[in-house]
Amino acid sequence: MSNKCNWFIGPDLKPCNKNKQEDSDYCKTHLFVAEYTEEEKEAKKHCSSCKKVLYIPDGQKTCGCAEAKIKKLAEKRRDERQPHIEKKLEEQNNKLKEKQRLINEMGYILCGYCDEVHPPTSFIGTRGQQTQSCENCREIQKERDARRTKQRDWSQEYKNNPALVEKKKQWKADNRDKQREYERKYKESKKGL
Ligand SMILES: [Zn+2]
Ligand SMILES: [Zn+2]
Ligand SMILES: [Zn+2]
Repeated sequence: MSNKCNWFIGPDLKPCNKNKQEDSDYCKTHLFVAEYTEEEKEAKKHCSSCKKVLYIPDGQKTCGCAEAKIKKLAEKRRDERQPHIEKKLEEQNNKLKEKQRLINEMGYILCGYCDEVHPPTSFIGTRGQQTQSCENCREIQKERDARRTKQRDWSQEYKNNPALVEKKKQWKADNRDKQREYERKYKESKKGL
């Protein structure tokens, strides 16, 4: 009996040339094979990802090492993110404190739309009235309103244009006929079998 490991290496499944471990048929790296069933040993393949020869279930390209690697990376990333989260919370806290200070000491007003504080002059409308939203938010709202009226209102156009409605109905009818034709042909082809 050879004292070489009973497992394989490389894409062409060459015999492993390392020595057996004591009380085992396999070398140190291939000790895991001792846990395999005969079927698993038979179904051995070369993993394209970790380059090891091991049992890979049918239909799988890798042994699962890629998934494990991705999981490990995700965990690492999460750990690295933790200090960032704490820093962010601290920043948020400081921002809140600063807002409170501006309100208390400078008479700033909190805008209910953008949740930012602005000087009182920012809350005076074009007619000199007190406004709920700050200057910025009013400007954004104005632009949004202008854009909305510019967009085409199709349901309204359909209502005002009977020809368009007719066209849409006709298209639906045509396509229904086509669909029926398909179904008929399909049934006939089945009968022939
Ligand atoms: Zn080996
Ligand atoms: Zn692998
Ligand atoms: Zn605002």
